[in-house]
Amino acid sequence: MTIPKIFVSSELAATFVCEACGNCSTRDVSKFIRHKAKVQLKYKCKCGHIFSVILERRRGIRKEVNFKGVLTQNRKQFPGVITDLSHNGIQFKTLEKALIKEESMAEVKFTLDNPNRSEVRKRIRIRKAFSEYSLGCEFEDTDHFDDLGKYFLFYFSQKK
Ligand SMILES: [Zn+2]
Repeated sequence: MTIPKIFVSSELAATFVCEACGNCSTRDVSKFIRHKAKVQLKYKCKCGHIFSVILERRRGIRKEVNFKGVLTQNRKQFPGVITDLSHNGIQFKTLEKALIKEESMAEVKFTLDNPNRSEVRKRIRIRKAFSEYSLGCEFEDTDHFDDLGKYFLFYFSQKK
């Protein structure tokens, strides 16, 4: 049996749905957000049923994209391509070797493929350097009130 995943909202809460009675309960899960390892939680419903869930902090919805962008760190610019986009972050492939430290901060600028070709600028944290060319980055602020937020609303509504 696979353990169901639940997703974290922008309010850092998650909704637990009891598989026995269907009762829903939304709980604050903010203390688990920064955990690097997989977070598995046990939840006891008021009906008495106990079940486990995996807290999915990537919110499940991600999209393979091909957006040209520039990553800037310490005034150095690294042109490249955004290959993967989610509410929480991006994957960035640099065109040239980039020695960028994990857990360091940077800024990224890229252009969406929406009709307006909106330009997005974000502060990011380098979560993982997969290679000298490939970086897993997390948005510093995952509440997107700019065109990226609209992009998620209109272009991310259906899962692949
Ligand atoms: Zn229940």
